Amino acid sequence: MRNKYTCVIGLEVHTQLLTESKAFSFSSTNFGDNPNHNTDPVTLGLPGSLPVLNKKLVEYAIKVGLATNCKIREINRFDRKNYFYPDMPKGYQISQHEGPICYDGNVEIELEGERKQIGITRIHMEEDSGKSIHDLDIDTLLDFNRAGVALIEIVTEPVIRSSAEAYQFLTQLKQILLYTGVSSGNMEEGALRCDANVSVMPVGTEVFGTKSEVKNLNSFRNVEKAIEYEINRQIELIESGGKVIQETRMWDGGKNITVAMRTKETARDYRYFPEADLPMLKISQDMIDGIKAELPEMPLERKYRLQNDYDIPLYDAGIIVEDIDLANYFEKTCSLLEEKSPKSYKLVSNWIMTELLRIKSEQDLAIIDLPLSEEFLAEIVDLLISEKISNQIAKDIFPIILDEKKSPKLIVNEKGLVQVNDTDLIESMAKKLVDDNPEEVERYKQGKDRVHGFFVGQIMKESKGKANPKLVSEIVKKYLDA
Ligand code: ADP
Ligand code: MG
Repeated sequence: MRNKYTCVIGLEVHTQLLTESKAFSFSSTNFGDNPNHNTDPVTLGLPGSLPVLNKKLVEYAIKVGLATNCKIREINRFDRKNYFYPDMPKGYQISQHEGPICYDGNVEIELEGERKQIGITRIHMEEDSGKSIHDLDIDTLLDFNRAGVALIEIVTEPVIRSSAEAYQFLTQLKQILLYTGVSSGNMEEGALRCDANVSVMPVGTEVFGTKSEVKNLNSFRNVEKAIEYEINRQIELIESGGKVIQETRMWDGGKNITVAMRTKETARDYRYFPEADLPMLKISQDMIDGIKAELPEMPLERKYRLQNDYDIPLYDAGIIVEDIDLANYFEKTCSLLEEKSPKSYKLVSNWIMTELLRIKSEQDLAIIDLPLSEEFLAEIVDLLISEKISNQIAKDIFPIILDEKKSPKLIVNEKGLVQVNDTDLIESMAKKLVDDNPEEVERYKQGKDRVHGFFVGQIMKESKGKANPKLVSEIVKKYLDA
């Protein structure tokens, strides 16, 4: 049944911006403060109070707009979106209705090796509402700390065609938000909220079906699940002779279903009109150029560049660019290497993906707080590449480097751990083993390959792990085959 229908999905993503004060007033935006600690006359909509635009809100909106290839509107105004709800004491939300600050952009996503552009219809500036707290035994409580916090809403074109694409888009968008530094992207704290618009139409038709809009999606996985649920619900409805109605639905994460919430309100319901308390806003080309100059390379671009510049697998590059600080860490380490080769870059990547990310998650650290500097990782890789130490020694001294914060080169020298590359010494050890164990040699000749590994192990043990394992392996083989 599924393949008789094309799915059409458009996402609306609200993002809290990391401005220190609110969109139109001086109150702090700090998350987790005591309820109603961060309020002021503007936030509370007291008579006679007037909003003042936070410049950072404009800068951050433009930043995201440029990072998503949008055009930037020169002349902006704000509009009032009127609705009555206790968590919005003014009786309206300041937003941008007809003229969003950014429009006509796109975000590239990658799905199973295919690249696709997801069109961005618009990004507009607005303010958050307060929070109603219903889940207590007493009456509903109101917390206005969040009221007036700066938001942008990012709206995609209805060009997403599957839940997997929606998931990829959100992942990519979150990375862009983190790279530009405008948002924490933290969904649990509500800094990123997504509504999914979903409809289906018979394959081959051009006219979109009626959509439903799903709210209350608090993780990317839930967005994916809710879209799947909606697609199936709508198809079943149509197949059984019913009709999809335009409505707002809620995701019920406990039951994994969507439930009807209300029929969709239209723009008319909101009685939009220009916000007269704020002047028109003109954005200069200078301001745009200044922001553009500050933009970092975007994650997907960087992923392809890392693959190309360092000759590492695309998979590695993808993991490294997930965090801008990790990508910086990788590139700085590579720049410090004595030996600059694809082989040593791959070693850096391996150490990052195994040891570093393990420590990071075990100790719940940010990349910049990792106990291993780029200098030290570069030294480890140089020691390995120049065969001064074996992998085993590197693993053994790793905890010492972390604990003592001491240069790996220094530790290796102090402890006399430099790898034994002395061919004569290894030859004599191999010769002795072969001479002392004639039965083992006989078994080897009868096809028991394990003997080779056993001899190598003996020499490694005798040398306390310092013998060059590659060299040992070659020499032992030579003696066994002799
Ligand atoms: P509304 O008038 O309900 O606000 P918009 O046209 O502003 O609708 O679009 C809101 C979101 O819904 C956008 O992300 C858009 O891509 C998406 N959308 C619009 N029409 C459809 C549709 N038929 N099916 C799925 N998504 C849609
Ligand atoms: Mg709309």
